[in-house]
Order: sequence, then structure tokens, then C-alpha cells
Amino acid sequence: MFKAKAYSAASATSPLASDTIPRRDPTEKDVQIEIFFCGICHSDLHYARDEWHEVMPAVYPCVPGHEIVGRVTSVGAGVKKFKQGDLVGVGCLVDSDHTCPNCQAGLEQFCPNMVLTYGSPDKHGTAPVTYGGYSDSIVVEEGYVLHIPENLNLAGAAPLLCAGITTYSPMRHWGVTKGKKVGVVGLGGLGHMGVKFAHAFGAHVVVFTTSASKKEDALRLGADEVVISRNADEMKAQAGSFDFILDCVAADHDINAYIQLLARDGNITLVGAPEKPLAVGAFGLIFGRRSISGSPIGGIAETQEMLDFCGKHNITSDVEVIPIQKINEAYERMLKSDVKYRFSIDMASLKAE
Ligand code: NAP
Ligand code: ZN
Repeated sequence: MFKAKAYSAASATSPLASDTIPRRDPTEKDVQIEIFFCGICHSDLHYARDEWHEVMPAVYPCVPGHEIVGRVTSVGAGVKKFKQGDLVGVGCLVDSDHTCPNCQAGLEQFCPNMVLTYGSPDKHGTAPVTYGGYSDSIVVEEGYVLHIPENLNLAGAAPLLCAGITTYSPMRHWGVTKGKKVGVVGLGGLGHMGVKFAHAFGAHVVVFTTSASKKEDALRLGADEVVISRNADEMKAQAGSFDFILDCVAADHDINAYIQLLARDGNITLVGAPEKPLAVGAFGLIFGRRSISGSPIGGIAETQEMLDFCGKHNITSDVEVIPIQKINEAYERMLKSDVKYRFSIDMASLKAE
């Protein structure tokens, strides 16, 4: 075991603060990584503040962070895919059972025994639960480590590991391609990646935002149209016209307003995970045989496919790089939708702790 520097929350109401955590010595199949950047996902905030208590009660101290990029510092004797010096990433998953039908199908995100990067019981017994990427290092089994294309900006590549795959995967699943009309609701960390992917796949992209100030950015990011969702007339003009809508909103909102915008057999997929349940009217779904679904991150193979796609098309997240000492301020700004469009923590700042 060795000690790593980290930032942790001691309770649902305490701010994140400097801490020291144990990490396991790499086993035969492990990769040890020096973390360079870690993105700040809204899920980190939901979890650290125990907002998902009903589904995923938080265990303290908690070390969030699942948008990790860094360089391999050492590998176990049995590691085949990575060597010292490789640029790598780690997303939301660090293990699964390898044997269930989901794992066999390469869909580890549905494994009933998956181990999340933070907050899951630690099978290695290093600590009560796994600790995430707000840290200077992490040790992960090689099967859950990704190759990062060398041409990508590293601070901007980190958010691909969650915001990227969470928007890429459902768009692939629901067939977002040229000729399709696609809506993206909420221009935050996930939403802005959704816009970039839908645009790269050739779809006609419409952004729905509550922030009029984001209009120009939405167009620059690849949107063909921008709708201010608080404007009833603008919303009405889009009725019944969408093949697919990706809902990336982190807070309570009226999802029925978006169901009305779907064409026959259109689908709205929730990736945003608000604290409280959303009310869904039956008639919006019945008329038009529309459907609503959800989608979690993506499997390891698809995450690598997404990273390679980003390498080829030079797609990264638009980031504001911050030192870890600004983490609590960043959380407050995220709650005000004041992020353009993802915070990425420069882990070199941990050296000062
Ligand atoms: P974020 O950066 O905070 O973005 C959320 C966006 O939602 C905001 O920028 C804002 O966009 C919009 N919004 C916020 N409050 C709103 C309100 N009251 N009404 C309407 N719109 C509102 O968050 P994120 O990191 O992208 O995460 C979004 C959600 O996805 C979170 O709930 C997160 O936990 C979840 N998530 C799910 C998965 C998964 O696997 N399914 C993975 C990662 C994250 P505008 O300013 O444009 O309106
Ligand atoms: Zn996330």
C-alpha cells in the first residue's frame, strides 16, 4: 500500500478538503497511473452531497472524480495492453465480474457487480470503498484502462471519459446519423459533448437551453438551431419534429414539454439524473408511440471506440482548467450553470498540498 494525495468530502455538508488516501500496490494485472487532469462531472456533486441517497448512498470520506487522464508510471508483470509512459484514461468503471451476460457482451456498464471508480466497495480491501480521480494517482486493472490518442489536448480529453461516452453511447444506440433531427437539452458538460457528437455524426442539431447567453456558443459547438426553452413560442415551433432528444439536465424540469417535440416513434433518452423523480404524462407518449429511456455511460470497448473517434476528428471538451484548491467554488458555479463547459482539474496543483 502507498499513500496518495487527494481531495475528499467528509460528509454531505462539508466542503472538499485536502486529504491523504491509501492506494494498493499494483498487482499482476494492474496499471499505476499518475493523474494529470480530472474533469468535474455533476455526478461528483450529486454524490458528494448524497443527493442520490435513495439509489446510491454516499460513503464518507468520499473522493469523487471519474474523468481521469494521466500517464502510466508502472505496470504489473501480467499487463499486456499498457507500458510505462503510455497516455491513459479511466472513466466511471474500474472493475466488473467478467462473467455475466452483460460483461460477456462487452456492456460492463450493465454488470450487476460493476465497481465504480468511487464509492463502490473496494474488493482489494485497501479502503472501505473505491476512491476516485481527485488525486495524484490511481491503480486500476488493465481491462478498465483506456488509451488516449496522443494528438488530443489532455485537459480537454479528460471529460471524454464520462461526459463523452455518456452522450456518444445513446446516440450510437438510437441511430443518430445524417438526415436525423436531434435535440440536446441542457448545454452543460454532457450537453456540449452531445452537440459535438451529433454534429460529427451529421445530424441536424437543435440545442435547448435555459441560458440565452449560451446561444452563440451552441452554434459554434455545432448546433444548427438554438431554442430558449423558457420561450413557449420557440418550443411550440418545434412540435412533433424530432427523431431523438438527449436530455442532459441535472435538475428538476418539465420533460413533457420535450416529449411533445418528438415525431412518431421518436425517443427521448435521459442521461441527466436529477435528485427527484420527473413526472411523465401518459398521453404525450401514447399519441405518436413515443418512447422514453435512459442510458448509463458506456462499456469499455465503446469508450475506446469513442476516444479513437475523438482522436480522428480532434474532438475534446471545452474546458476551464482550475487548480484543485478551487473545487468548492467550481461546484457552486456548476449549480448556477456557469461552466463553459467543463471544469478540468490540473492535478499538478495537488503538489502544493
Ligand atoms: P452540468 O454541466 O451542470 O450541466 C447541466 C445543464 O443542465 C446546465 O448547464 C443547464 O444547461 C441545465 N440546467 C441546469 N439546471 C436546470 C434547470 N433547473 N432547468 C433546466 N435546465 C437546467 O451537468 P453535467 O455534468 O453535464 O451532468 C448532467 C446530468 O447528467 C447530471 O444529473 C449528472 O449526474 C448526469 N450524468 C449522468 C450520467 C449517466 O451515465 N447517465 C453520466 C454523467 C452525468 P442550460 O444552461 O443550457 O439550460
Ligand atoms: Zn460523470
